[in-house]
Amino acid sequence: MNAPAIDWHARAAALRIDGRILIDGQRRDAASGQAFDCVSPIAGRVLGSVARGAQADVDAAVASARRAFDDARWAGKPPAARKRVLQRFAEAILAARDELALLETLDMGKPIQFSLAVDVPSAARCIAWYAEAVDKIYDEIAPTPANALALITREPVGVIGAIVPWNYPMIMAAWKLGPALAAGNSVVLKPSEKSPLTALRLAELALQAGLPPGVFNVVPGYGHEAGEALALHMDVDAIGFTGSTRTGRRMLEYAGRSNLKRVFNELGGKSAFIVFDDCGEVARAARTAADSIFFNQGQSCNAPSRVLVHERVADEFMAVVAAQVPNWPPADPLAPATTLGALVDEGQMRTVLGYIESGVAEGARCAAGGRQVRAETGGFYVEPTVFDGVAPTMKIAREEIFGPVLSVIRFKTETEALRIANDSPYGLQASVWSDNIHRAHRVARALRAGTVHVNQYDEDDITVPFGGYKQSGNGRDKSLHAFDKVTELKTTWLRINPRGD
Ligand code: NAD
Repeated sequence: MNAPAIDWHARAAALRIDGRILIDGQRRDAASGQAFDCVSPIAGRVLGSVARGAQADVDAAVASARRAFDDARWAGKPPAARKRVLQRFAEAILAARDELALLETLDMGKPIQFSLAVDVPSAARCIAWYAEAVDKIYDEIAPTPANALALITREPVGVIGAIVPWNYPMIMAAWKLGPALAAGNSVVLKPSEKSPLTALRLAELALQAGLPPGVFNVVPGYGHEAGEALALHMDVDAIGFTGSTRTGRRMLEYAGRSNLKRVFNELGGKSAFIVFDDCGEVARAARTAADSIFFNQGQSCNAPSRVLVHERVADEFMAVVAAQVPNWPPADPLAPATTLGALVDEGQMRTVLGYIESGVAEGARCAAGGRQVRAETGGFYVEPTVFDGVAPTMKIAREEIFGPVLSVIRFKTETEALRIANDSPYGLQASVWSDNIHRAHRVARALRAGTVHVNQYDEDDITVPFGGYKQSGNGRDKSLHAFDKVTELKTTWLRINPRGD
């Protein structure tokens, strides 16, 4: 028998939001006593009040994290014990699936079916995967002469500041937390002011799972207050940042102005999706492009927002893309079948509508969508939008829109396609569609992007690194490579007495 359908509106109405800071295992108000309203983009309703963390709160959180690191209450535990705590943390995330999914959907407007099927399980799998890694990573011994032994060991860097965006709040937090905690660091997490709720619940679940107080602290607040205080802090050893390229630039400045802390930036993108005329599956390519750009209301750093399609197959491609648009009607994110929800806030909606206007003004053809809808709900909804006849110089071809807007550029030759694809300040992901194995390899190698997909776009897994070239960032989240960001490499030389007596 099927379980009865959940009435998400009833659950939302019954929710009690606790937006207080979490430091040293304790909830507390901001030192200033200030708070801000947490507004849901679904209908513009105030969900609750969230502490407006700032310098004094960041100081307290970093001091707590430092104490926890220095007394080795976490890093000093046997690896198998740390593994077990993190496994329990992952299990707790799954056990709280409905509550976390509801908070995520209310906070940033994504459809509840995807919060349930994607965000919660991905966050849990990330923590579980790094938990499994804790007692399976070995250090190195260098090939030195017989009178010496050189050990190359990894040690946690210490206190890590994690500053994350609102588009996948829980998954982005998990990508930072998984490797950082597995390696024995302490963490101060600053979630986006637009989506602070699940971060605070994650920290409570971690405590319940047995993570010692002080190891994982959460300070919600604004970027220019709590974020800046954290990134400038003299006692933070590294910053793991995910967000816009504009703020990533600031992170590097903060490090230069303070203690030269390590900065790992995971930034924006304008990923190219190239369909050649020897692609045998133009229709599948078109469906994949539409699904990938409309998912999460287009608010995905790796969304294939620039499609480059060979002129011989462009009409077929456009017809199939247009046929996908009705599958993504903007609707109530709490309704179980909704595929396209609300944009995160009014500002983001205005930005997206501004880009749509600029596309029209610059002469692109709006083939579908283009308008704000559901304004009567008080929420922030934009139709899935497709532009044809886009020139590579237009703003909608060059800048990250971060909304459900696909820009289609037609090309004639492989050389031209590659030039357009690489002519971008970004280099996060790309995709090549061709049945010619030589071309697929040639183009994949020539693309300046951290991930290149061939004849697909949807594969993703915690086992592979995620990050960009150029102004898309410098770090890699996920996979064992993420440990490079949260560990120091130490060399220890030991003299071995050459005499045996
Ligand atoms: P954002 O840069 O505005 O904010 C990100 C975080 O930085 C937030 O927590 C914010 O409060 C904080 N912040 C803002 N200004 C700050 C300042 N002056 N000092 C310190 N902290 C500050 O980005 P956003 O709008 O939240 O997120 C969208 C961006 O994130 C897009 O560009 C997207 O491509 C990118 N993103 C990248 C990845 C990736 O892995 N490469 C993943 C997800 C999102």
